[in-house]
Amino acid sequence: MRDVSELPGVGPQVAGRLKALGIVTEVDLLFHRPLRYEDRTRITPMNRVRPETRVQIEGRVMHQEVVQRRRRMLLVTLADDCGEITLRYFRFYPSQRRMFQVGNRIRCFGEVRFGPEGFEMAHPECRVIGTRSPEPLPEHLTPIYPITQGLARATLTRLIDEAVERVRQGQLALPDPLEGMEQAGTLAQAILTIHRPGPGEDLDALIDGHHPAVRRLATEELLAHHLALARLNRARERQRAPKLDSGETLRAGLLERVGFEPTGAQKRVSEEILVDLQRDRPMRRLLQGDVGSGKTLVAANALLAAAASGRQAAIVAPTEILAEQHFNTLSQWLEPLGLKLVWLAGKVKGKARRQALEALAGDANIAIGTHALFQAGVEFRDLALVVVDEQHRFGVHQRLALAAKGSSGDHIPHQLVMTATPIPRTLAMTAYAGLEVSVIDELPPGRKPVTTVAMSQGRREEVVERLRRALAEGRQAYWVCPLIEESDLLEARAAESTAEELAQALPGHAVGLIHGRMKPAEKQDVMTRFSAGEIDLLVATTVIEVGVDVPNASVMMIENAERLGLSQLHQLRGRVGRGSAQAACVLIYKPPLGETARARLEVMRETTDGFVIAEKDLELRGPGEVLGTRQTGMLRFRVADLGRDAGLLEPVKALAERLDRPGADIIIERWIGEAEQFVDV
Ligand code: ADP
Ligand code: MG
Repeated sequence: MRDVSELPGVGPQVAGRLKALGIVTEVDLLFHRPLRYEDRTRITPMNRVRPETRVQIEGRVMHQEVVQRRRRMLLVTLADDCGEITLRYFRFYPSQRRMFQVGNRIRCFGEVRFGPEGFEMAHPECRVIGTRSPEPLPEHLTPIYPITQGLARATLTRLIDEAVERVRQGQLALPDPLEGMEQAGTLAQAILTIHRPGPGEDLDALIDGHHPAVRRLATEELLAHHLALARLNRARERQRAPKLDSGETLRAGLLERVGFEPTGAQKRVSEEILVDLQRDRPMRRLLQGDVGSGKTLVAANALLAAAASGRQAAIVAPTEILAEQHFNTLSQWLEPLGLKLVWLAGKVKGKARRQALEALAGDANIAIGTHALFQAGVEFRDLALVVVDEQHRFGVHQRLALAAKGSSGDHIPHQLVMTATPIPRTLAMTAYAGLEVSVIDELPPGRKPVTTVAMSQGRREEVVERLRRALAEGRQAYWVCPLIEESDLLEARAAESTAEELAQALPGHAVGLIHGRMKPAEKQDVMTRFSAGEIDLLVATTVIEVGVDVPNASVMMIENAERLGLSQLHQLRGRVGRGSAQAACVLIYKPPLGETARARLEVMRETTDGFVIAEKDLELRGPGEVLGTRQTGMLRFRVADLGRDAGLLEPVKALAERLDRPGADIIIERWIGEAEQFVDV
């Protein structure tokens, strides 16, 4: 495959701009889809033009003049056999005035509007047409491509057009391993349809991607990712990991300590994990479980397998609060079993840090902490398992950095990734490509779904009254003030003033405050007092979003709920409803509600099922945002769109099975390239 830089007229600068569009090779040009199309295949007679349409007209210049109205402008009158149209230019050059010499024949494309002189076009694209032989019209629609800053549309259009022409003439061969397997025809045909549709094509379908030609490309692209993944997995077959013991005795001890019976789902996924850990292949497993489904116990079981084998395990959380909560829970559960736990976060400094590092390099069994565990200078004696909680907050690279800490030779640690954000089933396969998935699909017994209402902020007094009643019954509550401005300082201030206001409105109740600008120790102190029941109402920013567990808290008030996404609302609401009391959630919104915000609040009121919410989230936001593609760099498709093309995933699997190795290589190379942009998750 030729690089674009080998094409005529492409210097380093243009090549750089093209790269910003994801175009590196000549073939990449073919995968750059038009934003829309213009119909220049016909000339619209001037008595048939309609305002607000983009059309092509052709006629003779009858008159031109430069007039001084509010601004100086060039007015040109163009006429055909049926009527007249005015062309209006606010910026013009002498060359244009020459072009519009009276008597010249002009072909114009632009948007029609109704002006003081009748129908007119402002700044249309115009060309002089020879008078002798009639100039032929294009046979296909004209594609308009998305561009990027610093790249002229004309340049990009020319490059794509030349590449498409080479395909048409067979000079640029597109070997087609799917030939005969795909009803949608060959890749070359699909490319021609997309870039040069005839006037009869369904343009809406071409643009929104439901057209068979686009689906043909999307299929091949998804197939390329699927095949690349299979290749990656074959490479992984060669990797080894330490075989771990089942840790039977320690597990039994743990069960005695926790004081509850694991749910069927917890038992099942713990078994799945154990089976993986007993193999000499590195586990790569994603544990999905809704908020409150009891992932911590499952993680603890896995940690024990490493400890029972005389090796080390680490559990990493995205925030200090969450990491400390894990540390507290796991210390209570595991220390009595004779295990040594080590805590490491950014705030651990000086002597405490030295001791922690010594223990990690020495006799510690389990490390618990934040990303501080990934940092240089942290050495493990024998890290055999890494558990990452709340996957979404970590980038792929951080996770790999921790895995590297346990690597020796071709041995790498087992990995367990836990997330409470349910990934819609349709996306899981691709989003977490390469991870086995275990799902905790059952909540601990006695949980009642949180009742949820939405109330306008105009009814704040009523909201406070509800809160007063709940607190009077001895319940604990959260009041969340989410980000209003893009500043955690302002967010903190909003939380502070809300806390003051509520403290006044609710005399006799202890109101606490927690936000992102507090020191970790202060935050921890507040959480401890809330857990102990010394604080009745906790006013918080979204720092409490992830993972915090206080079973007696059963009321959740969320301000500015219309600004939050579904998964965030679901996470926040998941902080309550963990005990046996009937929990309530009030979504306080500021009217008027936009359509999407209304739909979100509606979903929250209707269901507490994380998977249903995730599917709705996908509908409302699209997969890129749901998966947080930008932060993690997990996925980037050129043509495929997982929301739209989810239905192609199954057929793609079937195609993958029928394809031979050389065919697979062609497709991977074409879409993903040598550089193997595919991220190894
Ligand atoms: P998450 O999946 O959100 O991390 P946690 O592990 O924090 O959930 O568990 C939520 C709460 O449920 C904790 O208080 C935990 O002790 C409790 N819990 C977990 N499993 C069970 C169970 N099988 N029976 C009763 N309570 C449980
Ligand atoms: Mg958790």
